[in-house]
Amino acid sequence: MTSANVLALLGGAPVRTRPFQAWPQFDREEFGALSDVLESRRWGGIHNGSQGESFESTLARYLGAPHVSTVSSGTAALMIALRALGIGPGDEVVVPALTYVATATAVSLAGAVPVFADIDPDTHTLSSSSLKAALSERTKAVICVHLGGHPADMDSLGTVAAAHGIPLIEDCAQSLGASWNGIKTGALGTIATFSFATTKNITAGEGGAVVTHDAGLATRIASLRDHGRPPGSPHGHHELGWNLRLSEFQSALLRVQLGRLDQQLAAKEKSAVYLSSSLSGIPGLRLIPPPAAIDPRVTAHARFSFAFTLDIDTADDSVGTISPDTFRRALRAEGIPVSVRTLTACPDEPLYADPTSCDHSPSQTSAAAQARTACASLILLGQAAGSGMLLDHPTELADVVRAVEKIYDNSHHLRQHPPNPPASTAH
Ligand SMILES: *Cc1c(COP(=O)(O)O)cnc(C)c1O
Repeated sequence: MTSANVLALLGGAPVRTRPFQAWPQFDREEFGALSDVLESRRWGGIHNGSQGESFESTLARYLGAPHVSTVSSGTAALMIALRALGIGPGDEVVVPALTYVATATAVSLAGAVPVFADIDPDTHTLSSSSLKAALSERTKAVICVHLGGHPADMDSLGTVAAAHGIPLIEDCAQSLGASWNGIKTGALGTIATFSFATTKNITAGEGGAVVTHDAGLATRIASLRDHGRPPGSPHGHHELGWNLRLSEFQSALLRVQLGRLDQQLAAKEKSAVYLSSSLSGIPGLRLIPPPAAIDPRVTAHARFSFAFTLDIDTADDSVGTISPDTFRRALRAEGIPVSVRTLTACPDEPLYADPTSCDHSPSQTSAAAQARTACASLILLGQAAGSGMLLDHPTELADVVRAVEKIYDNSHHLRQHPPNPPASTAH
Protein backbone atom coordinates (compact mmCIF):
# COMPACT_ATOMS: atom_id res chain seq x y z
CA MET A 1 0.00 0.00 0.00
CA THR A 2 1.30 3.47 -0.82
CA SER A 3 1.23 6.19 1.76
CA ALA A 4 -1.56 7.90 -0.21
CA ASN A 5 -3.79 4.89 0.42
CA VAL A 6 -3.07 4.77 4.15
CA LEU A 7 -5.42 6.89 6.22
CA ALA A 8 -3.78 10.07 7.49
CA LEU A 9 -5.12 9.19 10.93
CA LEU A 10 -2.97 6.01 10.75
CA GLY A 11 0.16 7.80 9.49
CA GLY A 12 -0.52 8.02 5.72
CA ALA A 13 -0.48 11.11 3.52
CA PRO A 14 -3.55 13.31 3.79
CA VAL A 15 -5.84 13.84 0.79
CA ARG A 16 -5.55 17.61 1.09
CA THR A 17 -2.84 19.89 2.45
CA ARG A 18 -4.03 23.20 0.94
CA PRO A 19 -6.56 25.22 2.93
CA PHE A 20 -10.09 25.77 1.71
CA GLN A 21 -11.59 29.27 1.65
CA ALA A 22 -11.42 30.98 5.02
CA TRP A 23 -14.25 32.30 7.13
CA PRO A 24 -15.06 35.11 7.71
CA GLN A 25 -14.51 36.83 4.35
CA PHE A 26 -13.66 40.49 3.75
CA ASP A 27 -12.14 42.78 1.15
CA ARG A 28 -11.22 46.46 0.71
CA GLU A 29 -14.82 47.50 1.31
CA GLU A 30 -14.58 46.48 4.97
CA PHE A 31 -11.35 48.48 5.38
CA GLY A 32 -13.06 51.52 3.87
CA ALA A 33 -16.16 51.16 6.03
CA LEU A 34 -14.09 50.84 9.21
CA SER A 35 -11.83 53.79 8.47
CA ASP A 36 -14.86 55.96 7.60
CA VAL A 37 -16.29 55.27 11.06
CA LEU A 38 -12.90 55.93 12.70
CA GLU A 39 -12.53 59.29 11.02
CA SER A 40 -16.13 60.30 11.76
CA ARG A 41 -15.40 60.03 15.51
CA ARG A 42 -18.95 58.73 15.85
CA TRP A 43 -18.15 55.26 17.11
CA GLY A 44 -21.40 54.41 18.84
CA GLY A 45 -23.51 54.90 21.94
CA ILE A 46 -24.42 58.53 22.59
CA HIS A 47 -22.11 59.58 19.74
CA ASN A 48 -23.95 57.59 17.14
CA GLY A 49 -23.53 58.23 13.45
CA SER A 50 -25.69 56.88 10.66
CA GLN A 51 -24.21 53.37 10.41
CA GLY A 52 -26.62 51.70 12.84
CA GLU A 53 -29.76 53.08 11.22
CA SER A 54 -28.41 52.50 7.75
CA PHE A 55 -27.73 48.81 8.44
CA GLU A 56 -31.08 48.39 10.21
CA SER A 57 -33.03 49.76 7.27
CA THR A 58 -30.99 47.74 4.76
CA LEU A 59 -31.61 44.55 6.71
CA ALA A 60 -35.32 45.39 7.08
CA ARG A 61 -35.59 45.77 3.30
CA TYR A 62 -33.68 42.53 2.71
CA LEU A 63 -35.92 40.57 5.09
CA GLY A 64 -39.21 42.19 4.15
CA ALA A 65 -39.95 43.09 7.77
CA PRO A 66 -40.45 46.71 8.86
CA HIS A 67 -38.70 46.89 12.24
CA VAL A 68 -35.09 45.87 12.89
CA SER A 69 -33.14 46.71 16.06
CA THR A 70 -29.48 45.78 16.14
CA VAL A 71 -28.15 44.44 19.44
CA SER A 72 -24.83 43.16 20.78
CA SER A 73 -25.36 39.40 20.21
CA GLY A 74 -27.84 36.71 19.24
CA THR A 75 -28.25 35.82 22.91
CA ALA A 76 -29.02 39.48 23.72
CA ALA A 77 -31.57 39.44 20.89
CA LEU A 78 -33.32 36.41 22.41
CA MET A 79 -33.28 37.95 25.91
CA ILE A 80 -34.81 41.18 24.61
CA ALA A 81 -37.42 39.34 22.52
CA LEU A 82 -38.56 37.36 25.56
CA ARG A 83 -38.64 40.45 27.79
CA ALA A 84 -40.51 42.47 25.15
CA LEU A 85 -43.15 39.73 25.10
CA GLY A 86 -43.47 39.96 28.89
CA ILE A 87 -42.07 36.50 29.60
CA GLY A 88 -40.65 35.94 33.08
CA PRO A 89 -40.74 33.76 36.20
CA GLY A 90 -43.51 31.14 36.23
CA ASP A 91 -43.72 31.01 32.44
CA GLU A 92 -42.71 28.15 30.17
CA VAL A 93 -41.19 28.53 26.72
CA VAL A 94 -40.90 25.56 24.35
CA VAL A 95 -37.51 25.25 22.61
CA PRO A 96 -36.06 22.48 20.41
CA ALA A 97 -33.82 19.94 22.15
CA LEU A 98 -31.31 20.31 19.31
CA THR A 99 -30.03 23.90 19.03
CA TYR A 100 -27.18 26.05 20.22
CA VAL A 101 -27.54 26.24 24.01
CA ALA A 102 -28.24 30.02 23.95
CA THR A 103 -31.78 29.41 22.66
CA ALA A 104 -32.53 27.71 25.98
CA THR A 105 -30.32 29.77 28.29
CA ALA A 106 -32.01 32.99 27.12
CA VAL A 107 -35.24 31.53 28.49
CA SER A 108 -33.54 30.63 31.79
CA LEU A 109 -31.97 34.09 32.01
CA ALA A 110 -35.48 35.56 31.72
CA GLY A 111 -36.36 33.50 34.80
CA ALA A 112 -38.72 31.29 32.76
CA VAL A 113 -38.53 27.52 32.25
CA PRO A 114 -37.28 26.11 28.93
CA VAL A 115 -39.33 23.05 27.93
CA PHE A 116 -37.46 20.89 25.42
CA ALA A 117 -39.40 19.40 22.53
CA ASP A 118 -38.01 17.06 19.87
CA ILE A 119 -36.91 17.66 16.29
CA ASP A 120 -38.00 16.26 12.97
CA PRO A 121 -35.22 13.79 11.99
CA ASP A 122 -35.23 14.87 8.32
CA THR A 123 -34.80 18.61 8.84
CA HIS A 124 -33.40 18.81 12.41
CA THR A 125 -35.96 21.54 13.19
CA LEU A 126 -38.70 21.64 15.84
CA SER A 127 -41.42 19.03 15.27
CA SER A 128 -44.94 20.45 15.50
CA SER A 129 -46.34 17.25 17.05
CA SER A 130 -43.64 17.37 19.72
CA LEU A 131 -44.40 21.06 20.28
CA LYS A 132 -48.07 20.20 20.78
CA ALA A 133 -47.18 17.56 23.38
CA ALA A 134 -44.96 20.04 25.25
CA LEU A 135 -47.61 22.74 25.71
CA SER A 136 -49.17 23.47 29.10
CA GLU A 137 -51.31 26.26 30.51
CA ARG A 138 -48.05 27.95 31.57
CA THR A 139 -46.59 27.98 28.03
CA LYS A 140 -46.17 31.62 27.02
CA ALA A 141 -44.14 31.29 23.80
CA VAL A 142 -42.36 28.88 21.48
CA ILE A 143 -38.94 29.44 19.90
CA CYS A 144 -38.25 27.60 16.66
CA VAL A 145 -34.71 27.41 15.26
CA HIS A 146 -33.92 27.26 11.54
CA LEU A 147 -31.00 24.97 12.33
CA GLY A 148 -28.08 24.85 9.92
CA GLY A 149 -30.02 27.25 7.70
CA HIS A 150 -32.95 24.92 7.01
CA PRO A 151 -36.26 26.73 7.61
CA ALA A 152 -38.50 25.10 10.21
CA ASP A 153 -42.04 24.15 9.14
CA MET A 154 -43.53 27.56 9.83
CA ASP A 155 -47.00 26.59 8.62
CA SER A 156 -47.60 23.76 11.07
CA LEU A 157 -45.67 25.41 13.94
CA GLY A 158 -47.62 28.62 13.33
CA THR A 159 -50.91 26.71 13.41
CA VAL A 160 -50.07 25.07 16.75
CA ALA A 161 -48.87 28.35 18.27
CA ALA A 162 -51.95 30.25 17.06
CA ALA A 163 -54.31 27.57 18.37
CA HIS A 164 -52.66 27.90 21.79
CA GLY A 165 -52.65 31.69 21.55
CA ILE A 166 -48.89 32.11 22.00
CA PRO A 167 -46.25 33.97 19.98
CA LEU A 168 -43.86 32.09 17.70
CA ILE A 169 -40.28 33.40 18.00
CA GLU A 170 -37.87 32.56 15.19
CA ASP A 171 -34.24 32.00 16.18
CA CYS A 172 -32.60 32.90 12.84
CA ALA A 173 -29.01 32.87 14.13
CA GLN A 174 -28.10 30.29 11.45
CA SER A 175 -30.60 31.18 8.75
CA LEU A 176 -30.00 34.67 7.36
CA GLY A 177 -30.96 34.39 3.68
CA ALA A 178 -33.21 31.32 4.01
CA SER A 179 -36.83 31.55 2.94
CA TRP A 180 -40.06 29.61 3.45
CA ASN A 181 -42.75 29.89 0.80
CA GLY A 182 -40.82 32.80 -0.68
CA ILE A 183 -40.74 34.75 2.62
CA LYS A 184 -37.41 35.28 4.37
CA THR A 185 -36.89 33.63 7.75
CA GLY A 186 -37.10 36.49 10.21
CA ALA A 187 -40.28 37.85 8.60
CA LEU A 188 -42.44 34.83 9.44
CA GLY A 189 -42.95 34.85 13.21
CA THR A 190 -44.05 37.30 15.92
CA ILE A 191 -40.44 38.25 16.65
CA ALA A 192 -37.23 36.96 15.09
CA THR A 193 -33.67 37.07 16.38
CA PHE A 194 -30.36 37.04 14.47
CA SER A 195 -26.74 36.56 15.49
CA PHE A 196 -23.74 38.11 13.75
CA ALA A 197 -21.13 36.13 15.68
CA THR A 198 -18.03 34.97 13.81
CA THR A 199 -19.39 31.83 12.15
CA LYS A 200 -22.75 33.26 11.11
CA ASN A 201 -23.74 34.21 7.53
CA ILE A 202 -22.75 37.84 8.04
CA THR A 203 -20.50 38.83 10.92
CA ALA A 204 -18.86 41.67 12.80
CA GLY A 205 -17.21 39.27 15.27
CA GLU A 206 -20.24 39.71 17.52
CA GLY A 207 -23.66 41.24 17.02
CA GLY A 208 -27.34 40.48 16.70
CA ALA A 209 -30.72 41.86 15.68
CA VAL A 210 -34.35 41.66 16.76
CA VAL A 211 -36.96 41.84 14.01
CA THR A 212 -40.73 42.26 14.11
CA HIS A 213 -43.76 43.42 12.13
CA ASP A 214 -45.33 44.85 15.31
CA ALA A 215 -44.65 48.58 15.86
CA GLY A 216 -45.47 48.41 19.59
CA LEU A 217 -43.06 45.53 20.17
CA ALA A 218 -40.42 47.33 18.10
CA THR A 219 -40.58 50.36 20.44
CA ARG A 220 -40.15 48.14 23.50
CA ILE A 221 -37.25 46.30 21.88
CA ALA A 222 -35.45 49.56 21.03
CA SER A 223 -35.97 50.79 24.58
CA LEU A 224 -34.83 47.54 26.25
CA ARG A 225 -31.49 47.58 24.44
CA ASP A 226 -30.89 51.19 25.50
CA HIS A 227 -31.30 51.36 29.30
CA GLY A 228 -35.11 51.51 29.06
CA ARG A 229 -35.03 54.82 27.20
CA PRO A 230 -37.82 55.16 24.61
CA PRO A 231 -36.36 55.56 21.09
CA GLY A 232 -35.99 59.17 20.01
CA SER A 233 -36.29 60.48 23.56
CA PRO A 234 -32.98 61.70 25.00
CA HIS A 235 -34.31 61.87 28.57
CA GLY A 236 -36.12 59.59 30.93
CA HIS A 237 -35.70 55.88 31.62
CA HIS A 238 -39.15 54.34 31.66
CA GLU A 239 -38.43 50.69 32.30
CA LEU A 240 -35.65 48.35 33.36
CA GLY A 241 -33.36 47.94 30.37
CA TRP A 242 -29.81 46.95 29.49
CA ASN A 243 -27.07 48.39 27.34
CA LEU A 244 -27.09 45.80 24.58
CA ARG A 245 -26.29 48.19 21.71
CA LEU A 246 -24.11 47.50 18.70
CA SER A 247 -21.22 49.86 17.84
CA GLU A 248 -21.01 51.85 14.62
CA PHE A 249 -17.97 49.79 13.57
CA GLN A 250 -20.01 46.60 13.74
CA SER A 251 -22.97 48.09 11.86
CA ALA A 252 -20.64 49.39 9.13
CA LEU A 253 -19.06 45.93 8.71
CA LEU A 254 -22.44 44.22 8.65
CA ARG A 255 -23.82 46.49 5.93
CA VAL A 256 -20.88 45.58 3.68
CA GLN A 257 -21.23 41.91 4.52
CA LEU A 258 -24.95 41.91 3.76
CA GLY A 259 -24.19 43.20 0.27
CA ARG A 260 -22.19 40.04 -0.39
CA LEU A 261 -24.67 37.59 1.12
CA ASP A 262 -26.77 36.53 -1.86
CA GLN A 263 -23.73 35.85 -4.03
CA GLN A 264 -22.24 33.71 -1.21
CA LEU A 265 -25.51 31.83 -0.75
CA ALA A 266 -25.57 30.97 -4.45
CA ALA A 267 -22.00 29.62 -4.29
CA LYS A 268 -22.75 27.59 -1.14
CA GLU A 269 -25.88 26.15 -2.71
CA LYS A 270 -23.81 24.91 -5.68
CA SER A 271 -21.43 23.23 -3.26
CA ALA A 272 -24.27 21.61 -1.34
CA VAL A 273 -25.79 20.21 -4.54
CA TYR A 274 -22.38 18.87 -5.59
CA LEU A 275 -21.63 17.28 -2.20
CA SER A 276 -25.13 15.76 -1.87
CA SER A 277 -24.93 14.05 -5.23
CA SER A 278 -21.27 12.98 -4.96
CA LEU A 279 -21.55 11.53 -1.46
CA SER A 280 -24.93 9.87 -1.92
CA GLY A 281 -23.52 6.56 -3.18
CA ILE A 282 -21.35 5.86 -0.13
CA PRO A 283 -22.87 3.12 2.06
CA GLY A 284 -23.57 4.17 5.62
CA LEU A 285 -23.86 7.91 4.97
CA ARG A 286 -27.27 9.46 5.32
CA LEU A 287 -27.40 12.65 3.29
CA ILE A 288 -30.02 15.15 4.27
CA PRO A 289 -32.06 15.34 1.06
CA PRO A 290 -31.99 18.65 -0.84
CA PRO A 291 -34.42 20.99 0.94
CA ALA A 292 -36.84 21.26 -1.96
CA ALA A 293 -37.02 17.44 -2.10
CA ILE A 294 -38.09 17.34 1.57
CA ASP A 295 -40.51 20.22 1.27
CA PRO A 296 -41.14 22.49 -1.72
CA ARG A 297 -42.02 25.28 0.71
CA VAL A 298 -38.28 25.55 1.52
CA THR A 299 -37.56 28.13 -1.17
CA ALA A 300 -34.01 28.95 0.02
CA HIS A 301 -31.60 27.26 2.44
CA ALA A 302 -29.07 29.49 4.22
CA ARG A 303 -26.29 26.85 4.16
CA PHE A 304 -24.76 27.71 7.50
CA SER A 305 -23.58 24.12 7.40
CA PHE A 306 -23.58 21.08 5.16
CA ALA A 307 -24.70 18.25 7.44
CA PHE A 308 -24.92 14.51 7.07
CA THR A 309 -25.19 11.66 9.53
CA LEU A 310 -23.58 8.25 9.82
CA ASP A 311 -26.19 5.56 9.62
CA ILE A 312 -25.06 3.60 12.66
CA ASP A 313 -27.47 0.72 12.00
CA THR A 314 -26.06 -0.42 8.67
CA ALA A 315 -24.11 -3.64 8.50
CA ASP A 316 -20.57 -4.49 7.46
CA ASP A 317 -19.39 -2.84 4.24
CA SER A 318 -20.22 0.68 5.33
CA VAL A 319 -18.83 3.78 7.05
CA GLY A 320 -21.72 3.34 9.50
CA THR A 321 -19.57 0.77 11.32
CA ILE A 322 -17.04 3.47 12.27
CA SER A 323 -17.78 5.46 15.40
CA PRO A 324 -18.80 9.02 14.47
CA ASP A 325 -16.01 10.36 16.68
CA THR A 326 -13.38 8.32 14.81
CA PHE A 327 -14.95 9.25 11.47
CA ARG A 328 -14.71 12.96 12.31
CA ARG A 329 -11.08 12.65 13.39
CA ALA A 330 -10.20 10.59 10.28
CA LEU A 331 -11.82 13.21 8.02
CA ARG A 332 -10.02 16.06 9.76
CA ALA A 333 -6.70 14.21 9.48
CA GLU A 334 -7.26 14.02 5.70
CA GLY A 335 -7.29 17.84 5.63
CA ILE A 336 -11.05 18.37 5.64
CA PRO A 337 -12.05 21.00 8.24
CA VAL A 338 -14.85 19.15 9.97
CA SER A 339 -15.87 19.92 13.51
CA VAL A 340 -14.55 17.15 15.76
CA ARG A 341 -16.78 18.20 18.62
CA THR A 342 -19.60 15.80 19.45
CA LEU A 343 -22.78 17.83 19.80
CA THR A 344 -24.83 17.61 22.97
CA ALA A 345 -28.60 17.77 23.00
CA CYS A 346 -29.60 20.80 25.10
CA PRO A 347 -31.31 18.86 27.90
CA ASP A 348 -28.06 16.85 28.31
CA GLU A 349 -25.85 19.93 28.74
CA PRO A 350 -24.40 19.84 32.28
CA LEU A 351 -26.21 23.10 33.00
CA TYR A 352 -29.59 21.40 32.58
CA ALA A 353 -28.74 17.74 33.20
CA ASP A 354 -27.05 18.27 36.57
CA PRO A 355 -29.73 18.90 39.20
CA THR A 356 -27.14 20.47 41.55
CA SER A 357 -26.39 23.32 39.12
CA CYS A 358 -29.31 25.45 40.21
CA ASP A 359 -28.19 29.00 39.55
CA HIS A 360 -30.88 29.24 36.86
CA SER A 361 -34.46 28.19 36.30
CA PRO A 362 -34.94 24.42 36.02
CA SER A 363 -35.84 22.92 32.65
CA GLN A 364 -38.26 20.24 31.52
CA THR A 365 -37.86 17.73 28.75
CA SER A 366 -40.90 16.53 26.96
CA ALA A 367 -39.07 14.62 24.19
CA ALA A 368 -35.49 14.52 22.88
CA ALA A 369 -34.89 11.06 21.36
CA GLN A 370 -34.42 12.32 17.79
CA ALA A 371 -32.24 15.20 18.97
CA ARG A 372 -29.97 12.76 20.82
CA THR A 373 -29.72 10.43 17.81
CA ALA A 374 -28.81 13.35 15.54
CA CYS A 375 -26.17 14.63 17.99
CA ALA A 376 -24.51 11.22 18.18
CA SER A 377 -23.98 10.86 14.44
CA LEU A 378 -23.99 14.35 12.92
CA ILE A 379 -21.05 15.42 10.72
CA LEU A 380 -20.90 19.18 10.09
CA LEU A 381 -18.98 20.91 7.31
CA GLY A 382 -18.83 24.63 6.54
CA GLN A 383 -19.19 27.64 8.79
CA ALA A 384 -20.54 25.45 11.60
CA ALA A 385 -16.99 24.03 11.62
CA GLY A 386 -15.42 27.49 11.24
CA SER A 387 -14.61 27.05 7.55
CA GLY A 388 -15.59 28.95 4.40
CA MET A 389 -15.13 25.77 2.32
CA LEU A 390 -18.68 25.83 0.94
CA LEU A 391 -17.70 28.98 -0.95
CA ASP A 392 -15.14 26.92 -2.86
CA HIS A 393 -15.71 25.57 -6.33
CA PRO A 394 -16.77 21.89 -6.66
CA THR A 395 -13.32 21.09 -8.16
CA GLU A 396 -11.86 21.93 -4.72
CA LEU A 397 -14.62 20.14 -2.83
CA ALA A 398 -13.82 16.97 -4.75
CA ASP A 399 -11.21 16.47 -2.00
CA VAL A 400 -14.04 16.05 0.51
CA VAL A 401 -15.47 13.25 -1.62
CA ARG A 402 -12.01 11.67 -2.06
CA ALA A 403 -11.42 11.77 1.70
CA VAL A 404 -14.76 10.18 2.54
CA GLU A 405 -14.19 7.48 -0.12
CA LYS A 406 -10.73 6.81 1.34
CA ILE A 407 -12.24 6.40 4.80
CA TYR A 408 -14.85 4.07 3.32
CA ASP A 409 -12.17 2.00 1.56
CA ASN A 410 -10.26 1.72 4.86
CA SER A 411 -13.21 1.36 7.19
CA HIS A 412 -12.07 -2.11 8.30
CA HIS A 413 -8.86 -0.55 9.73
CA LEU A 414 -10.81 1.93 11.79
CA ARG A 415 -13.14 -0.70 13.11
CA GLN A 416 -10.31 -2.95 14.26
CA HIS A 417 -7.92 -0.37 15.67
CA PRO A 418 -9.77 2.68 16.85
CA PRO A 419 -6.71 4.99 16.96
CA ASN A 420 -5.97 7.79 19.37
CA PRO A 421 -5.86 11.20 17.76
CA PRO A 422 -2.38 12.57 17.03
CA ALA A 423 -2.03 15.82 18.99
CA SER A 424 -1.92 17.93 15.81
CA THR A 425 -5.40 16.90 14.67
CA ALA A 426 -7.10 17.42 18.01
CA HIS A 427 -9.19 20.56 17.91
C1 LIG B 1 -25.13 31.50 17.51
C2 LIG B 1 -26.47 31.14 17.99
C3 LIG B 1 -27.11 31.83 19.04
C4 LIG B 1 -26.41 32.83 19.90
O1 LIG B 1 -25.87 33.90 19.24
P1 LIG B 1 -24.64 34.72 19.93
O2 LIG B 1 -24.47 35.87 18.98
O3 LIG B 1 -23.47 33.81 19.94
O4 LIG B 1 -25.07 35.14 21.27
C5 LIG B 1 -28.41 31.49 19.35
N1 LIG B 1 -29.05 30.52 18.68
C6 LIG B 1 -28.47 29.82 17.69
C7 LIG B 1 -29.26 28.77 16.98
C8 LIG B 1 -27.16 30.09 17.32
O5 LIG B 1 -26.59 29.39 16.34
